[in-house]
Amino acid sequence: MEIRTRFAPSPTGFLHVGGARTALFNYLYAKAKGGKFILRIEDTDQDRSTLDSEKTILESMQWLGIHWDEGPDIGGEYGPYRQSERLEIYKKFTNLLLEKNLAYRCFCTPEELEAKKKQADAMGIPNVYDGVHANMTPKEIQAKLDAKVPYSIRFRVPHKQVIVDDLIQGKVKFDTKLIGDFIIVKSDGFPSYNYAVVIDDYLMKISHVIRGVGHLSNTPRQILIYEALGFPLPQFAHVSEIVGTDGKKLSKRAGATSILAFRDLGYTNECFANYIALLGWSPEDSQEYIKKEKLERIFDIERCSKSPAMFDVFKKMSEEEKESVSLNSLTTVELGNYLNPKSKLNWLSNKHICDMEMNELMKEISPFLEIANIPSEYKDINNTTIRDIVYSIRVYLDRLSQAPPYIEEFFRVEINFENEEAKQILENANAKTVVHEFYNFLQSSNPKTPQDYKNLMEEVGKKTEQKGKNLFMPIRVATTGKTQGLELPILFSLLGVEKLLKRIAHLTKESVLKI
Ligand code: GLU
Repeated sequence: MEIRTRFAPSPTGFLHVGGARTALFNYLYAKAKGGKFILRIEDTDQDRSTLDSEKTILESMQWLGIHWDEGPDIGGEYGPYRQSERLEIYKKFTNLLLEKNLAYRCFCTPEELEAKKKQADAMGIPNVYDGVHANMTPKEIQAKLDAKVPYSIRFRVPHKQVIVDDLIQGKVKFDTKLIGDFIIVKSDGFPSYNYAVVIDDYLMKISHVIRGVGHLSNTPRQILIYEALGFPLPQFAHVSEIVGTDGKKLSKRAGATSILAFRDLGYTNECFANYIALLGWSPEDSQEYIKKEKLERIFDIERCSKSPAMFDVFKKMSEEEKESVSLNSLTTVELGNYLNPKSKLNWLSNKHICDMEMNELMKEISPFLEIANIPSEYKDINNTTIRDIVYSIRVYLDRLSQAPPYIEEFFRVEINFENEEAKQILENANAKTVVHEFYNFLQSSNPKTPQDYKNLMEEVGKKTEQKGKNLFMPIRVATTGKTQGLELPILFSLLGVEKLLKRIAHLTKESVLKI
C-alpha cells in the first residue's frame, strides 16, 4: 500500500507550532516511507477562512522546507485540494446518506439550539442533541422545505461503542451516547469538518491520518461516517500535546506564535524543523542534533510518545504577565526579550549555524547583513572580508539576528565603553603600560594572522611582566570597549593594524590614555 499522508489546515490564522509539527510529522513520515504528502485546505468555515491565511500557511511551510506533492497551488490527481471547491462531491454522499436514512434534516433554529445548550449547561449535563427532527414523516419534511425553512443535516448516530485503534495512543474506547446526532452539513450548505474530512481522506487515498491529540475526540464521529459510507479506515496517529515552560498547553497569547516569527528572530529553517521534530518524537540513537536529510530518512510514527512535549523556547511567564502580554502581537525585537536563552532551540541553533556550509550560512545571514550598520560593499555575501568575519563570529550566535552587533564591531573606528567597569580597567597604571606597549608593538611589527597577534601579545606580556587577565583585559577594553567577545587574535587579524591603532589613538584623544 502506498503511504499517503496529509496536512489539512483551516486557513483561519497563521501557522503556529502545533500545526507546523503536524505538517512536519506528516511530511517526514511520507518521505521516510517513500510515500506522498498532500496539502489540503479545509476552508469550510466561511466566516473565518481567508486567502491571506492560506498564503501565510503555505509560506510558513515553504520556509520550513515542507514540500507537498499535491496541493491547491500545484494540483494533483485527487483535486481540487480546497474543500470549498469540493461541495458537489460532498453533496453526492449526503444524498446517499439521506436516501439510506442514515442522516436527516434538522430544522432547529440557532436560537432553539442555543436554548438547549443553555439548559444542558445549567443542569450540568453534556449537551447531546435530542433528535427532535430525527423521525419526521416525508410529508412534514416536504412542508418545511416548501416553506423554505433553513435546515442543517445531521448524522444519525447509532448507539454503540467505537474503538479508535491509534498508532500512538493505543486503543481508545468511546461511547456514542455522549456524541448525539451531529451536523454534517451546515445550514449554509457547507459540510462540517468531521464530515468533509472523512470523504476527502477517503477520496484522496490517505493511508495515515497524523494530527494533534486534540482531534482524538473527533475520531469516533469520523469513524461512524467511514462505516456509514462503507469506506475502509485509515491508520490514525494522534501526536502528543505541546506544553510551554509552565507545563500548560500553548495558547496564542503564550507561545503559539506564528512560525514566521522564528524566521524573523534569526533561527534557520533546518534548525527549527529539527527542534519541532523532537516535540513528541525521538530517534533510536537519542541524538538530538539532526540534519533535515537524516530526519527525512529515519522519522517513524512508532517512536512518537504519548507524553506532552515541552516547547521551551519562551521564558516562563507569570500569570500576570500572561494577562498583560500577548506574545502573538509583539514585534520581533520585543518577542526576542521573551526567549529562553537556555532553550534546546538555542542550543541546536548554535550547532546548526556552526555546522553550516559557508555559502549556505552567508545566504541565510544576508537579510541580517542588509540591516547591519556597515559599509554597503560588505553586505555582498561574496566579499571575502565579511565572509571571514561571519566565519569567526558564528560560534557566538544562537540566532542569525545576533550577528549585526558583532559585525558592526569590526567597522567601528572609535570605541564606546560598554560600561563604567570597562572604563575603570584602563585607570590602573599597569593596564595603561600594557596598552602602551601593545600600541608600540603594533606600530613596529606588521602582524597579519591570528598567530602573529598571539606572538605579539606574548611579547607585550614579557615586556610588561603581565599575564593572563592583567594582560589581555586592558588590551581587549582598549580595542573594543568591552570586557568580553571574540578571541582577540582572531578579532585583531580581522580588524587589521590600522584600525587597532586608530581605536587606541582615539582613547588618547579622549584623555583615557596617553600614548
Ligand atoms: N482542519 C483541521 C484543523 O485544522 C484538520 C484536522 C485533521 O487533521 O483532521 O485542525
